Amino acid sequence: MNYFLYIILFVLGLAVGSFINVISLRYQSGRRLLDKKVIDGRSHCPICFKTLIWYELIPIFSFFLQRGKCRSCGHKISLQYPLVEILSGLIFVLVPIKILTITQLPNYQLLIILIWLLVFVFLLLLSIIDLRHSIIPNQINLTLGILGLILLIIKSAGQWSIVNGQQSFLGHYAVIFGLRENIWINYSVAALLGMAIFGVIILLSRGKAMGLGDFKLVAALGLIFGWPDILMVIFLAFIIGALVSIVFLIRKKKKMKDAIPFGPFLAIGAALTFFFGYQVIGGYFKLFGL
Ligand SMILES: [Zn+2]
Repeated sequence: MNYFLYIILFVLGLAVGSFINVISLRYQSGRRLLDKKVIDGRSHCPICFKTLIWYELIPIFSFFLQRGKCRSCGHKISLQYPLVEILSGLIFVLVPIKILTITQLPNYQLLIILIWLLVFVFLLLLSIIDLRHSIIPNQINLTLGILGLILLIIKSAGQWSIVNGQQSFLGHYAVIFGLRENIWINYSVAALLGMAIFGVIILLSRGKAMGLGDFKLVAALGLIFGWPDILMVIFLAFIIGALVSIVFLIRKKKKMKDAIPFGPFLAIGAALTFFFGYQVIGGYFKLFGL
């Protein structure tokens, strides 16, 4: 792929990020994700309700053009907007690059790139909604589960071999963890294992540590990532979640009993496994001299 194509992808990602911002802002629990009330209507300032004009709708540029403030009331625009737009832009560039660098090129490559793009777009959307509303909409978890199933069907149809671990983001290290005879068994075990781990945590903490939304999300991620990749997703999510909680506790931004949304940490764990899974496990084994 050439640079021009990547620039187009980045701009497309910015636009999608802008849409993610709109959905997360207008989302209300119990409402459908793409409810008419969510998509319809012009965007406006959440404080003074002044309708935004065309150049205020351009991703990123509008933020810097207005120096991060509403043009009419001077209210500070949340950094969420440009950040989500840039993240989405990066997703659209880096996900195709990553898929294209996986060795032993599988069939149906474009379709696989498209599905992984959707996976990360929905992970970004659920992270923002979980942060704002402390909920992961069922519609998103269901969509992610279906995307995982479609990926599985493609892998089956393309007769991907999982024997040597080349379809795992952990590369040849995946072989150590076994379960590489049947792709369907491998991915089912991954989903069930995720549900088992989160189920135990939910039962032991009586739903305080995490909720059913996280439970459904980890099942979907199991179908998307398979075994043993799902283990790393969960492992990294817990480590980063713990580190962030400690920082919040020290800075007294949260109290011990406050729930911190876990969806974003699973999304970060998924992204790190997807992009750096091989390096992470390689470093881990080196650390312990294995
Ligand atoms: Zn305003």
